[in-house]
Amino acid sequence: MEHYLDNAATTRVCTEAAEAALQAMTETYGNPSSTHTKGREAHRLLEESRKSVSEALGARDPSEVVFTSCGTESDNWALLSGAESMKRSGRHIISSLVEHDAVRRCLDLLESRGFSVTRLEPDGTGVISPDSVREALREDTILVSLMMVNNETGAVTDIGAVSEVLRRAGSSALLHTDAVQAFRKVPFQARTLGADLISVSGHKIHAPKGIGALYIRSGLRLRPLLIGGAQESERRAGTEPLPQIAAFAAACRQDPCVDHLAAMKHLAVKLLSEAVPELCFLDTAAPHILSVSMPGWRSEVLMNFLEGRGIYVSKSSACKQGRRSHVLEALGLRPQVIDGALRLGFSRFTVPEDLTALAEGLRDARALAHH
Ligand code: PLP
Repeated sequence: MEHYLDNAATTRVCTEAAEAALQAMTETYGNPSSTHTKGREAHRLLEESRKSVSEALGARDPSEVVFTSCGTESDNWALLSGAESMKRSGRHIISSLVEHDAVRRCLDLLESRGFSVTRLEPDGTGVISPDSVREALREDTILVSLMMVNNETGAVTDIGAVSEVLRRAGSSALLHTDAVQAFRKVPFQARTLGADLISVSGHKIHAPKGIGALYIRSGLRLRPLLIGGAQESERRAGTEPLPQIAAFAAACRQDPCVDHLAAMKHLAVKLLSEAVPELCFLDTAAPHILSVSMPGWRSEVLMNFLEGRGIYVSKSSACKQGRRSHVLEALGLRPQVIDGALRLGFSRFTVPEDLTALAEGLRDARALAHH
């Protein structure tokens, strides 16, 4: 039996999303920019889909949602164009040490282009405090980019409070949040959050890979990253991938099952700590991510052992591919804890049997080593 517990890396596509994609591929297959009936039909589906994603985001208006190819593109666009569009007012950017590489690499690039970046330190679980943003804020700060939920630890940063810090200080800096891990897991409404730019991605919420969106607060003009045709109201060129978009929208219309995620996380902590008392957990607020470590072990060894039993977990983040996690290092964890870290990700398809299998797997790995 398969026990997939790596839902922060990606999720299984839900039937509703797969059916929506099939429908768009085989029936509503016109180009949304074509003026004939097939094109108009596709355009209708595109705008209905935008409305569903916009409602899930709590945006004021569907026109605030622009479809992209992934969360990475949304982050790149927000950071690179956001900084460029503001550079007449200053060149200082505030972000953190625990951002995803899709943001970190943009920060490095912006530094090489003459911007200066303050990378805030997180607390022991990955949360960035709004006070630290206040302290770092300068007259020439033009952009603040902080993730809402950390993809390795599940730490939740209060973006609403960060927005309040900027408002109180009278700062005109743009506020971007990478909400790829937060969307449909941690409640927020784009219309009240106070962020100007919000990145989300389909494959973390049971839509296929290859679709994301950037929420752009209405009134904000962001220079396109992709230029060419006039799609997406001239904000992002390229024929819209309607199958992925329709699937993304269908996934957004499903119940996010947040209570179920939280129950699975709670149960995982209980079963795992009963099975292996020396396990260390990071206590974080996101309902779907649990960072756990078996000190003295290597994550790869545990992952391989578990995989032999059909249990899939990850070592910190799937994108790291063997490198040590910059996030866990920034938390100041002991090297032994970092090296034995596993990241668990729950979804609405996670069942208690998955967690029992994991707890038994870790207990048996430990017992074998003691013999
Ligand atoms: N930001 C965060 C926090 C993520 O977890 C991920 C995915 O791993 C991304 C950005 C990138 O999203 P995508 O895989 O859609 O490019």
